[in-house]
Amino acid sequence: MLPREGIRIQSGYHSPQLDVKVKLNTNESPEGPPENFSDALVEKLKTIHWNRYPDRRAGALCEALAGLHGVERNNVFAANGSNEVLQTILLAYGGHKRTAAIFEPTYLLYNHICNLTSTNVVSFPRKSDFSIDEAVLEDVFAVSPEIIFICSPNNPTGKLEDPKLLIEILRRFKGLVVVDEAYGQFSSFSAVDLLPEYKSLVVIRTYSKTWALAGLRLGYALCDVAISEVLWETALPYHLDSFKQTAGELALSDSEAMSERIGNLIAERERIAKELLEMGFDVVPSQANFILFGSEALDAKLLWKSLVEKDVLVRDVTSFPKIGNRLRVTVGNHKENSFFLQKIKEIIAQQ
Ligand code: PMP
Repeated sequence: MLPREGIRIQSGYHSPQLDVKVKLNTNESPEGPPENFSDALVEKLKTIHWNRYPDRRAGALCEALAGLHGVERNNVFAANGSNEVLQTILLAYGGHKRTAAIFEPTYLLYNHICNLTSTNVVSFPRKSDFSIDEAVLEDVFAVSPEIIFICSPNNPTGKLEDPKLLIEILRRFKGLVVVDEAYGQFSSFSAVDLLPEYKSLVVIRTYSKTWALAGLRLGYALCDVAISEVLWETALPYHLDSFKQTAGELALSDSEAMSERIGNLIAERERIAKELLEMGFDVVPSQANFILFGSEALDAKLLWKSLVEKDVLVRDVTSFPKIGNRLRVTVGNHKENSFFLQKIKEIIAQQ
């Protein structure tokens, strides 16, 4: 028996996991959570009534997230990673005979989860600098999608969307505007500030990057209560287990340490960008924890292979729509970044 069409994920999504010294391919945090996190979590776990189902609405976790973002608890929907948040949105607002608009290149999973949920996808091209083309907005509105996905900062380009353009979309579009801020903490603007004014806005965040908890699988949406209610109803009962709720709430108590880390990663990002530019690469200005770069003089696939041979793994994104001859490198810690830069220099010297 064959599965439904569209179940297979697009080739190129899963980054090969190779055994190398420096892994800069999946945009994770280079460090684990703060030192006392695991011990404090073990203590907290002792208080969980494991024989009972978890809090179905993850009250304490949502309260803590609401506090972090200056919204109300009922403006929060949480799920197992922001991918599951995206899936829940599409289950509720997408589906058969409904359409989502995306601007490519962008995060590959929008397309995939639309396929999984039988949602029609309409893709619009970005400009050559990878920003959304204002001129295509008329075409977007003309297809009357139910949802517009905007990834900002965008993966895999790192480009932050112009807030003015975002506001224009929010003003003129009546459907859901989903702003995926998986990398929002590394950028200078967040759509969270627009939430009180625009009821159709959904902002998505994740624990997988800044909070150094990709292994926890926790993400959330901030939105108007009318939308969050629908999302809670759409998710399976008890989809967030007690462990995750506890760990997610605990992680937020260390936001100071996290802010410091973000500052360090941003400084490292700028250092890498500067050095790559000095080496002659074309570097897309990034507001995320990764950088898209390439050079006409170097074949990106060959460069990726040479880096692997030198014990560095970056992301080969050449098969992504409209990315061209470029690679994406995640910002690691100072030592890892220096290692990566050194190896690139060696490769260039061998040309
Ligand atoms: N959105 C974007 C833009 C991402 O890059 C990622 C992670 N690669 C996600 C969502 C999914 O993150 P999570 O680990 O929370 O599912």
